Amino acid sequence: MDRAMVIAVLLVGCEACVREGVPPPEPPSVPSSGEGIGPGSSGSGGGAASGASRVEASPSAPSALVTRAELEAMDARECHAFVRERGGRFEVIPEADARGVIAPIRLSGPLGGVTIEHGGRSRMHEIMSCKLTVSLLGWAPALRAAGFDRIEHASIYRPGARVRSTGRQSGHAGGGAIDAFHFIRPDGTRLEVERDWADKTIGAPVCPPRQGEPEAQHVLRTLVCDAVAADLFQVVVTPHGDRHHHNHVHLEVRPDVDWTHVR
Ligand SMILES: [Zn+2]
Repeated sequence: MDRAMVIAVLLVGCEACVREGVPPPEPPSVPSSGEGIGPGSSGSGGGAASGASRVEASPSAPSALVTRAELEAMDARECHAFVRERGGRFEVIPEADARGVIAPIRLSGPLGGVTIEHGGRSRMHEIMSCKLTVSLLGWAPALRAAGFDRIEHASIYRPGARVRSTGRQSGHAGGGAIDAFHFIRPDGTRLEVERDWADKTIGAPVCPPRQGEPEAQHVLRTLVCDAVAADLFQVVVTPHGDRHHHNHVHLEVRPDVDWTHVR
């Protein structure tokens, strides 16, 4: 069976895409530019604009635990139960304490054997939508297969976060996006997006296979692109997206849309 997945096209400000002759964009309801991020920083952010991509999954690719429609339809109680049944441990955060977040939680244990760890000091940035939790659960087997048991992120929830260039609301405002910057093995060794996603050519296609790619970059790219192929995240911004994403990958869950952005 052809496991390839055609990713819908939606373009904004993607020079490379225009050069490649991709049709002009629909106005996106997602941000079109990113953020400057480091551990614990609180820039605005996340965003999209994409090229047409055909994403081939690798043999160890993850699979989504639910469809977009099923994820979109889950209410907070169903989502919490779904995560608990799969071993996820978390505290439920009152929605009044996490405005804008649907079914907010804060993890208190690993997801599928992978610890999701905030690299900064603000516990607020650890709050996430339960729907992001479901996608991270789906990603965990691939992360484990690649040798990682921990992801360090710069932030997930940033109240009111907006994308710098467009002013649109960022996925971080709803706790639905994670800025992953370190992928860490049990022995403490790690891949860092800043160092190991060495090619930071803005506008370069993200997911097509590359000849002679450094191993570390290949591992990171494969993890991200397999997650896209599995439809775990719908807005993905890599170091090819813009200069703000030189050190992290923005992975955002948007079950309410029928497109995927990867750049
Ligand atoms: Zn982000």
